[in-house]
Amino acid sequence: MIRAEELTKVFGNKKVVNKVNFTVKKGDIFGFLGPNGSGKSTVIKMLCGLLLPTEGKAFIQDINASEESLLVRKSIGYVSQKFGLYSDLTVKENMEFYGLIYGVNQNDLSKRINEISARIKLTPYINHKAEQLSGGWKQRLALACALLHKPIVLFLDEPTAGIDPVARREVWDLLFEFASEGMTMFVTTHYMDEAERCHEVAYIYLGDLIAKGSVDDLINIPDLYPENYKQIEVSGEPIMKIYALFQEIKEIEQITIFGRHLHCIIPKNLSIQTLENIIKEKTECKDPEILEKKPSLEDVFVALTKKYLS
Ligand code: ADP
Ligand code: MG
Repeated sequence: MIRAEELTKVFGNKKVVNKVNFTVKKGDIFGFLGPNGSGKSTVIKMLCGLLLPTEGKAFIQDINASEESLLVRKSIGYVSQKFGLYSDLTVKENMEFYGLIYGVNQNDLSKRINEISARIKLTPYINHKAEQLSGGWKQRLALACALLHKPIVLFLDEPTAGIDPVARREVWDLLFEFASEGMTMFVTTHYMDEAERCHEVAYIYLGDLIAKGSVDDLINIPDLYPENYKQIEVSGEPIMKIYALFQEIKEIEQITIFGRHLHCIIPKNLSIQTLENIIKEKTECKDPEILEKKPSLEDVFVALTKKYLS
């Protein structure tokens, strides 16, 4: 449904998207991740036909997004990062406005508004002003506006930034409902729990796509850590004493605090028993627990970024 081929964008003398390739299958939720300024929004704009690529091509259902942008726009919905809801218009008036912009036939518009409001559970708020809605409900309204013309591909640029965890989960449940009906979703996010729910994810770093695949593929990348290194999770109290101790041990490559645990990258030949003994000897913790740990998606992105920078 979506295909990027060597997609590249240069602004002035700065290459902000560099030869990016990926495809997205029908009905998939594709998570697009990366730090701020890495080119996520720029990629979306090229896929939507709103920005011309400097090189490479973007396709929606095999239609070239820059050559046939009007045609492409009929089949896509786009909730931009700063989607412009009109705060002094009501929920219904916002939908009427966007419905007309997206070319929904005037005669069908109220029926469509009723359908989509019921679907997204906006009906009770239909006459509320947009400014009265909480963050989560504003995002639902933005979603409703982008769905009025029945797009088959939906682009959502950070749809859950700044909304509370319950509202985030509800927005995602809606995305899964639409995806299960065959709609294809392209979503940017900073939240790893959301990324872990996607069918496929890609990670872009300063314009370069440095990872893509299913979550399972990514957490099982064989050569993620430098050769002969493994990840461990360390528990024990006081954890900050163990943290300070580990900083003195030069074989330990990377130490990150996660609540009451440490995640460390250590050489494979450094035994867990040895480390436990050192903790018992050098700190007041007498019952440390160290387990080998599979990387999380966040660990994968951190490791790949380090590898890419080295
Ligand atoms: P992200 O969405 O990942 O935060 P963006 O795609 O918005 O990243 O931006 C990528 C880079 O391109 C940033 O350095 C940004 O400043 C730059 N950029 C984005 N749009 C423009 C533009 N219209 N003109 C010049 N530079 C831009
Ligand atoms: Mg952005």
